[in-house]
Amino acid sequence: MNSTPTMKLKDIERRAHKFSKPFRVTDGKGFRLDDYDPEDTLHLGDEDKPRAKEALAIGVDALAELQDMLYAQDRWSVLLIFQAMDAAGKDGAIKHVMSGVNPQGCQVFSFKAPTSEDLDHDFLWRCMRCLPERGRIGIFNRSYYEETLVVRVHPELLEHQRLPPALVTRRIWDERFQDIRCVERYLARNGVAICKFFLHVSRKEQKKRFLERVEKPEKNWKFSSADVRERGFWKEYHDAYEDVIRETATPHAPWYVVPADNKWFTRVVVAAAVIETLTRLDLHYPKVGKDKLKQLAAARQSLLKEK
Ligand code: ATP
Ligand code: MG
Repeated sequence: MNSTPTMKLKDIERRAHKFSKPFRVTDGKGFRLDDYDPEDTLHLGDEDKPRAKEALAIGVDALAELQDMLYAQDRWSVLLIFQAMDAAGKDGAIKHVMSGVNPQGCQVFSFKAPTSEDLDHDFLWRCMRCLPERGRIGIFNRSYYEETLVVRVHPELLEHQRLPPALVTRRIWDERFQDIRCVERYLARNGVAICKFFLHVSRKEQKKRFLERVEKPEKNWKFSSADVRERGFWKEYHDAYEDVIRETATPHAPWYVVPADNKWFTRVVVAAAVIETLTRLDLHYPKVGKDKLKQLAAARQSLLKEK
């Protein structure tokens, strides 16, 4: 860990850019999900897998170094949001990409169906409590975006939210998008670098992965019949995701539409995007002032004098 010479970071950044840029959306106007192919690998084939794995390992090392600087500098924080249909590989991407980072500087939160305590508050509340502190990376495995996805696909969920009826109008989704845009703008202005991932898996690949969960005993635990039910709403989710990205992709909180049919490629793109996000922060170790230098010299002397 932390062995990547800083000289090399620029090089890694350049390479990362090649993998992240094609999938980055900073302006949602006219965005169409169908313009993005879940099978895309930027022309890399199976024979390139070993090289991709190597690149990922280098990326993971670079991430560790960048995170160390983020922590030392203690000014920015980084929020990574992961959204996807079931079995798209959120958990695996998080696990692999963040495998090198210091656990003390990184926290993962998974947002499932809201509890009754969550429902006693506004829809952003439970996520806002989990925002990363300065110097840290926070990962949201699902997020407040579910409020414009699963809740939009199943509007009956709104009834449990105990909102004053006068506030539940046809405009509610637009209002939520507006609120999300405002809050992300606010966070960005306060030093939170936001990076959002939609792992874009195809319906065909999801079926294959569900079948594996059913057929392989070691994967049975991952299977949930609720996931298969949700699959029935594919088109509704497709449209909802498209709208989410259209409405909330901005330069300060971009979406990355990551092809997710090939897990090895998904991980390379996610790592590249995180590297890109961190390098944009111009991180560096804090400069040591004159007084501190004196203290260091004195400490050195006294340590060397010790018998
Ligand atoms: P896994 O890969 O393990 O399946 P997961 O993120 O799908 O991970 P689950 O426990 O299967 O985790 O599912 C969480 C469920 O909670 C999802 O179906 C999601 O849509 C739902 N959920 C998340 N946020 C909300 C919300 N605000 N309102 C209603 N349902 C929500
Ligand atoms: Mg699930």
